[in-house]
Amino acid sequence: MKKMTLLAVGLLTAVMAWAQPERPKLVVGLVVDQMRWDYLYYYYNEYGTGGLRRLLDEGFSFENTHIDYAPTYTAIGHASVYTGSVPALHGIAGNYFYQDDRDVYCCTDPKVRSVGSDSREGQMSPHRMLATTIGDELQTATDFRSKVIGVALKDRASILPAGHAADAAYWWDTSAGHFVSSTYYMKELPQWVQNFNRTNHTEPKFNIKTSNLGVTMTFRMAEAALENERLGQGGETDMLTVSISSTDAIGHEFSTRGKENHDVYMQLDKDLTHFLQTLDEKVGKGNYLLFMTADHGAAHNYNYMKANHIPAGAWNYKKTVAGLNAHLKGRFGISPVMGEDNYQFYLNDSVIAAAGLKKQDVVDTSVEFLKQDPQFLYVFDEEKIATTTMPEWLKTRMVNGYFRGRSGEIGVITRPQFFGAKDSPDYRGTSHGQPYPYDTHIPWVMMGWHVGHGTSNAETRITDIAPTVCAMLKVQMPSGAVGKVCLPAAAR
Ligand SMILES: [Zn+2]
Repeated sequence: MKKMTLLAVGLLTAVMAWAQPERPKLVVGLVVDQMRWDYLYYYYNEYGTGGLRRLLDEGFSFENTHIDYAPTYTAIGHASVYTGSVPALHGIAGNYFYQDDRDVYCCTDPKVRSVGSDSREGQMSPHRMLATTIGDELQTATDFRSKVIGVALKDRASILPAGHAADAAYWWDTSAGHFVSSTYYMKELPQWVQNFNRTNHTEPKFNIKTSNLGVTMTFRMAEAALENERLGQGGETDMLTVSISSTDAIGHEFSTRGKENHDVYMQLDKDLTHFLQTLDEKVGKGNYLLFMTADHGAAHNYNYMKANHIPAGAWNYKKTVAGLNAHLKGRFGISPVMGEDNYQFYLNDSVIAAAGLKKQDVVDTSVEFLKQDPQFLYVFDEEKIATTTMPEWLKTRMVNGYFRGRSGEIGVITRPQFFGAKDSPDYRGTSHGQPYPYDTHIPWVMMGWHVGHGTSNAETRITDIAPTVCAMLKVQMPSGAVGKVCLPAAAR
């Protein structure tokens, strides 16, 4: 009888083992901050064959991938890639937004503390993100036996991709000059991170984000995590999320053209080559599934465009806020606009209530006033986007980008190539945040496990990435996912 039971258990175990869905050993998500889709080709001839070109030569490129919401900012982009969702559902309404009349940063969490430093740069967690990520779903599918780790210089670019159930997220504390984490994940840094920080650090307060070293440091940390956490070498599929922040910091300062932008992409290509080689060695070619994308693109510098007769310019948002407050003061006796962010104006509810005013009256008056400004193509009450006359695709992007209580009450859409920036003939930088192609058209290339070689120009979206990866892994798509599954060519 006992023998029979053992035999039965043995058979059952064998059947269960056989019934396990086939999955890669490791999933690698790589986000290059501010990487416009056309950088794949603008620098194509200068890339080596082992980095970005290897992704294109071996992998599958979804060439027509757009962000289907606005505003197009870093925290939102990272959350949307990994949740397959939009701000309207995942709640990350900007890098900064107002909540209960207070300006908040997306990842700040007063309930946690820094691990690895004493500064406030580690007081971060994903608590404001309301949807699950690819990593969260992978964890749930394996009863939390998978390992999920996030690495980036920017906290938001490490924390939001790694998700709620991550084993760890590491980001750079500039005041300390090394990688840290928070008590959301752990009590102290693992020994290998402490060792890494001893040999890889900068002078405190050195701005590594605006240096090419920032790219190298990020990949070095990702490779250290891969090796020390033995990612892709356990019984279940693991996940490593990596985000490159220096491309964005350098873009903001020096724009989409010129030596600085060129050099950071050459560095990215070189370091990516090494990273892919490391993955081949540690996990094995074909054993990992990698996707590369961006959180948003960037506009070309407006002075550069103007010099070439292309309509472009700066929107001085501070001036608009001052003008709007002055107008409302004259009409209602109060200045209720707290500020502008994310191409939205935020109203102070308590100031409006204290004056005994109806908020709708203030909103309507603001919209009418702003509509007189020819800088704006559209001005709208965010609660009434659906009934505002504007092209359907713009409307969709605005609805997807609006989260009541975290987004501003009034939205504006500036002319193409007119973005919120310093208004000066000396301005050399760039920005992003608008609903236009230069901000919304991003790369999405997959390579490795079950990925065929090819390209597609079918319309795809940032929100398709997570459902596609989850479908390939045979795990449930994230809780707020709105995208569709787009299998890369020979994917099975
Ligand atoms: Zn960004």
